[in-house]
Amino acid sequence: MSLQKLFIQNTPEALSAPMRETFIAPTLLPVCCLCGLIRDDTRFPPALDCWLTQRTYLETHGVNPTEIAHTHTYCPECFRKVRETVQQYFREIGTSP
Ligand SMILES: [Zn+2]
Repeated sequence: MSLQKLFIQNTPEALSAPMRETFIAPTLLPVCCLCGLIRDDTRFPPALDCWLTQRTYLETHGVNPTEIAHTHTYCPECFRKVRETVQQYFREIGTSP
């Protein structure tokens, strides 16, 4: 049996399968807990971070980000600030009497 025949025979069953198997809607948005920027994982590989404002996200995807559950993280700029603050804290602790 050729692969094409196998595909045709299985197509009606595949079409009646639940949509969740073919389409995964974003259910969690990674949002910076300090500045509120949204990491856009839908258009870029995660390794190439793209951070959008809520308005830009709405304009780009047609989805209101306030209607999607958020998971909190740090954007690169806020992460740098937090890291510097933590490093400063430990420097002060290390030099205190
Ligand atoms: Zn941030």
